[in-house]
Amino acid sequence: MLAEVVKKQYGKELAKCTNEEIYEALMIHVKGLAEDKVENKGKKKLYYISAEFLIGKLLSNNLINLGIYDEVKAELAAAGKSLAEIEEIEAEPSLGNGGLGRLAACFIDSIATLGLNGDGVGLNYHYGLFKQVFENNLQNETPNPWITKESWLKKTDRAYTVNFGGFDVKSVMYDIDVVGYNNRTTKLHLFDIETVDESIVGEGIDFDKEEIAKNLTLFLYPDDSDDKGRLLRVYQQYFMVSNAARLIIAEAKDKGSNLHDLADYAVIQINDTHPSMVIPELIRQLQEEGILMDEAISIVAKACAYTNHTILAEALEKWPIYFLEKAVPQLMPIIRELDNRVRATIEDESTYIIKDGRVHMAHMDIHYGFSVNGVAYLHTEILKNTELNNFYKLYPEKFNNKTNGVTFRRWLMSCNPELASLITELIGDGWKTNADELEKLGAFVNDDAVLDKFIAVKHGKKKELEAYLLKEQGIAVDSHSVFDIQVKRLHEYKRQQMNALYVIHKYLEIKAGKKPGRPITVIFGAKAAPAYVIAKDIIHLILCLSEVINNDPEVNKYLKVVMVENYNVTMAERLIPACDISEQISLASKEASGTGNMKFMLNGAVTLGTEDGANVEIAELVGKDNIFIFGEDSDTVIQRYERGDYSSRSYYLADPELKRAVDFIVSDEIMAVGCRENLERLFNELLNKDWFMTFPDFQEYIKAKEAIYSAFEDRKRWAKMMLVNISKAGFFSSDRTIDQYNKDVWKLN
Ligand SMILES: *Cc1c(COP(=O)(O)O)cnc(C)c1O
Repeated sequence: MLAEVVKKQYGKELAKCTNEEIYEALMIHVKGLAEDKVENKGKKKLYYISAEFLIGKLLSNNLINLGIYDEVKAELAAAGKSLAEIEEIEAEPSLGNGGLGRLAACFIDSIATLGLNGDGVGLNYHYGLFKQVFENNLQNETPNPWITKESWLKKTDRAYTVNFGGFDVKSVMYDIDVVGYNNRTTKLHLFDIETVDESIVGEGIDFDKEEIAKNLTLFLYPDDSDDKGRLLRVYQQYFMVSNAARLIIAEAKDKGSNLHDLADYAVIQINDTHPSMVIPELIRQLQEEGILMDEAISIVAKACAYTNHTILAEALEKWPIYFLEKAVPQLMPIIRELDNRVRATIEDESTYIIKDGRVHMAHMDIHYGFSVNGVAYLHTEILKNTELNNFYKLYPEKFNNKTNGVTFRRWLMSCNPELASLITELIGDGWKTNADELEKLGAFVNDDAVLDKFIAVKHGKKKELEAYLLKEQGIAVDSHSVFDIQVKRLHEYKRQQMNALYVIHKYLEIKAGKKPGRPITVIFGAKAAPAYVIAKDIIHLILCLSEVINNDPEVNKYLKVVMVENYNVTMAERLIPACDISEQISLASKEASGTGNMKFMLNGAVTLGTEDGANVEIAELVGKDNIFIFGEDSDTVIQRYERGDYSSRSYYLADPELKRAVDFIVSDEIMAVGCRENLERLFNELLNKDWFMTFPDFQEYIKAKEAIYSAFEDRKRWAKMMLVNISKAGFFSSDRTIDQYNKDVWKLN
């Protein structure tokens, strides 16, 4: 099949083509195949609006979902070509930042696979978040271009004019076909501007933030440390939702809607508060269409549903009124009207939309949406009982939980075909469309021959990672060591700093002669937001530790520290299958769900975690013998915040091991390879603030680490734990999550 494709395209034989040529021909061919598939249809359509879609590379995934992966791989191999090398050529689309964007990507895969009529709507960022490069043990940011002349994007005819205060921009819509596993497709719509100008980017990721008509879709989350950056986010958000609203109205009209019945044609999922302005914007556009304010509000309130992703106060957007007056003055009268209606009927001032000169986006979503959901059981309980309790008292019927999930096509079939085959060999392939069937693996927990096979698959993936790290990062790790991995965005609440303190502890113990029976490889991967100073200091500390420890001949036989550069989906697909220990150590109550935890579990890693997010549900499913849970629980943490009496210094003074580890941050050894300013700042932050309370959990963390390392030595017990984790992962398929959204919220026909 491919032979004909390249013959037609280049007039030569497959064996004579370069990998670049084959990649391009394959991509074009796959795009054609996707177009021929049945597109999900129906009267009512879901619009999943999200500022991020962290979709990852598409070639392999689409080949798998189209059912031609093995065929293509074999044909390439016969011509002396390697599909793996061809995949390398694809640039990863940089359309997202972390878990929220990856969730949106898993969701559109599941929507396509389940045959639901739903599209993603977002923005076509040219340079993504940024590409992370390490220099002198520091994170630097450079643009992360991914759009090539031939890409997965398809330009459409859809184009609108978007009005901002004082000027207009013209939009253009690109589509990416989302290929589901059942040969059905749906679409990801990405809006862009014609006038975007990549040449305005100077040093690193610096650019003129006020040239909106040139910069609007250059970067995701441009640096928001100043007003200009924050204002640019408002422009981006309005651009996204204004286009989305036009698209929604146009598609509904095409299907015969008179717009009074819009809610029968469209349901909008607002993914976190970034798309919240769709509420006033859709009301505004309906008024333009001749519908009166009262009715427009009630139509929109029947069509919009909101997902909350965090309880971190700083992440709940509250835009100053003067921002909106400047960027999108046409929305302010509507937002004022929405607020006035709340004020006229509700006494509780804490729920008002406009307060202290700011517009509280989440408040607007909750009053004027019909559904509010959290993303894991614990998170939703915290929303109902604490964070959004005032709203819960007003609208208990709106609140619901939808525990996150991940697509098993990418996070098992594509990234770990060896494990997928072993599972299929044991239980058949029904699990690929019905993830609950993984439970059948439970029958093998006492079968030594089967357990050995799981160990062998894991070791194979560890060897692949060993080879990759040597080749790409020049770091030698031993696949026989235990691979202890923490990869996720860098944030203090996720507590990479606690893991780093443990590494220091272990290093000093080894120095003092307490050598572990088996070597330990601690792997980190994380980007820090460019303006998040302490997060970048934590990366600096980890890179310094890596240099000191890996070069210390007394220690490096027993302990290695790796920080992979530019952690992204492609890197995750390499790391997760090779992981033994999955670090999920956020401060209890702070991680809404996590999805990394689910991917690791599915690939046979054992979780070392706190009682936070979906870890709670993982623990319930696998049972306490198959997970290592430690640390203070969310009630204790929430109470301590309420009392406001946490003093990290008193823990530091009371615990000599903790003190020793913290002091090492500013020791001569680390200073020799690091920057005094960064290290002292981090040291002082921990000693005087430690807002995410690493110190109270430190001793328990050490104990849990020692317990899990020693469990790893009992190979049979460990293999059983792996198997139980895989067998219980079915609940975390995004197919289950999407099915629940559809039954409870979207009700697509
Ligand atoms: C899954 C994933 C995340 C989310 O990880 P968490 O541990 O849930 O924060 C972030 N980035 C990438 C690239 C991922 O694949």
